[in-house]
Amino acid sequence: MYSRVQRDACIACGLCQLCAPELFNYDAEGIAYYRPDHNQGTTPIPPEQLTAFKQAYRQCPTGAIKRQTQPFPPADKKSTTHLL
Ligand code: SF4
Repeated sequence: MYSRVQRDACIACGLCQLCAPELFNYDAEGIAYYRPDHNQGTTPIPPEQLTAFKQAYRQCPTGAIKRQTQPFPPADKKSTTHLL
């Protein structure tokens, strides 16, 4: 399972980082990103983090946390450049 935050849908509520601090972090503006690969969506969620991920995924109020079984395609620069 792979994940990425759709950052333009994030409202900086903080729930995902509370649920899964190993998987989600925030930039200077409080907008979340997928921590293992700086929101590229190409590093799988570690198996031991799947329970925490599901909690974050379910609690995100805007559906900004995305998931899929394949790696995400390359992100546009706006989504990731300032995180690297
Ligand atoms: S739970 Fe959703 S809206 Fe809240 S900070 Fe995380 S990604 Fe953003």
